[in-house]
Amino acid sequence: MSQINNQIRIAIASGKGGTGKTTVSVNLLHFIRMHWTESVELIDCDVEEPNAALFFPDIQKLQLKDAFQLIPGIDIEKCTFCRKCVEYCEFNAIVVIPPVGFAEVNPSLCHSCGACMVACKFDAIQEYPEKLGEIESFSTMHHSRLTEGRLEIGSAMQTLMIKELKKEAGAHSEICLFDSPPGTSCPVVTTVADSDYVMLVTEPTPFGLYDLQLMVELLREIKKPFAVIVNKAGIGNRDMYDYLAKEHIEILGEIPFSREYAANYSSGNLLVNIPTNIEEGYLSIIQKIKKKFKDHAGNYHT
Ligand code: SF4
Ligand code: SF4
Repeated sequence: MSQINNQIRIAIASGKGGTGKTTVSVNLLHFIRMHWTESVELIDCDVEEPNAALFFPDIQKLQLKDAFQLIPGIDIEKCTFCRKCVEYCEFNAIVVIPPVGFAEVNPSLCHSCGACMVACKFDAIQEYPEKLGEIESFSTMHHSRLTEGRLEIGSAMQTLMIKELKKEAGAHSEICLFDSPPGTSCPVVTTVADSDYVMLVTEPTPFGLYDLQLMVELLREIKKPFAVIVNKAGIGNRDMYDYLAKEHIEILGEIPFSREYAANYSSGNLLVNIPTNIEEGYLSIIQKIKKKFKDHAGNYHT
């Protein structure tokens, strides 16, 4: 597996919300910076509800910029109403009605794939930029870079936004962490697609197990190497562990559940007064991950 620009790209995913995926991502950013390399950044790919920045009370804004998608527009003067573009559009985003001379693109359905531009032999389609959302970068109190994307309200183009957001990765760090949106749909696939490795965050409960199984199926389907982080270890039952053993899935580490720490971070203090057993959990995970990568330019080995 090749690493992009020698950057190690690790996605942190979970089959469901509420497993503590973002708190794990933020802690990994923190502990990797403290115990591996200062050149690490986090990209929050939950473009509908980014929340990683909320865990850094003293965060400083570095940059805010708009992200755009290219939407085709049809020039009625040039259009022959041949409907070739309609045939090419997989997303049913184009309506052409020859008898009444109507041809239009529905921007909310368009995925900016460019197929209609290729289809049209009459130069009747030109693209124009339309705002997709905003991309904002921050510096954390420990000077790690955090970037998040926020999709325009009402837009369903999460995958496009995540692709735009991921273009921000690479220039700033040796290690890039991608905090994936919850679920197992296209935005998750887009997040993990070019990652070298996926950490699956789960919790040892029946709901956690069900959603974990869906994620395992997905990652096996797209052939992504992965291992599991059991968050909130100590709650629930052993079914999760039985499943992981049966499927020969590696447990990268366990983060014990602490009621006191949960109260601490729910008030925004994720990275202060971290209990020793939780810190040890993260340090152990980082040691294992380090071993999986020979060096920053090296090969990944499972
Ligand atoms: S760019 Fe793609 S999705 Fe958008 S209208 Fe053209 S063919 Fe359809
Ligand atoms: S392919 Fe071009 S000419 Fe044909 S209907 Fe579409 S926009 Fe019009």
